[in-house]
Amino acid sequence: MEKKGILVVVSGFSGSGKGTVMKELISRYDNYALSISATTRSPREGEEHGREYFFKTREEFEKMIAEDALIEYACYVNNYYGTPRDYVEEQLGLGRDVILEIEIQGALQIKKRYPDTLLLFISPPDAQTLKNRLVGRGTESMDVIESRLSRAVEEAEGIENYDYFIINDDLNACVEEVNELIRGEHRRVSRSLELINEIRADLKKFQ
Ligand code: ADP
Ligand code: 5GP
Repeated sequence: MEKKGILVVVSGFSGSGKGTVMKELISRYDNYALSISATTRSPREGEEHGREYFFKTREEFEKMIAEDALIEYACYVNNYYGTPRDYVEEQLGLGRDVILEIEIQGALQIKKRYPDTLLLFISPPDAQTLKNRLVGRGTESMDVIESRLSRAVEEAEGIENYDYFIINDDLNACVEEVNELIRGEHRRVSRSLELINEIRADLKKFQ
């Protein structure tokens, strides 16, 4: 019955664990498609072009903007990040729920452009846990960590733009909660009009 895919935005402070939650979610359930963003930031150790991101030069990225190849883009801590259009449109058309793991400026562009998007915000249980996770990940210098923590203060002001606020304390619980929220979204009346009309027509046989 779930023919049409839902566009799902997942945001959260850097280090909140949203990447880990999304990887686990897509490994457990096969109805999700995780969009791979383009970015001008350098790959971290272990990251691969075409798997975590499409790593681009600034010129290449600006060309994608000019060609309208991105459905949203933003500048985050001195780098561009954006969502390629083709994959999202193709996967939604195939009925899969497409997840965009993006920051808040991009989330607001998506909400404006596609108002029936489901917007989820993932947070650590507290600020110290956020810092510990960022430091523990070991992928950024202390300078970059400080910039990301200060960005988190600004991002926290925008949480009211989202539909659901989810704490990532226990990883397993968080993954299941995200899955349930998306499944629940499919049950929304406004997304089930086709089915509702079929049942209405079917009921008429009793008249
Ligand atoms: P983000 O994508 O939000 O920047 P990551 O997924 O890279 O964050 O997670 C940041 C760090 O926190 C990683 O080292 C990850 O292993 C760890 N982490 C993620 N979720 C949890 C959790 N529920 N409990 C403990 N550590 C976590
Ligand atoms: P990171 O450098 O840690 O991978 O990502 C930094 C931030 O950029 C994160 O908040 C991440 O969600 C966000 N981000 C990743 N891809 C995109 C994208 O395509 N568009 C936007 N707007 N933000 C993105």
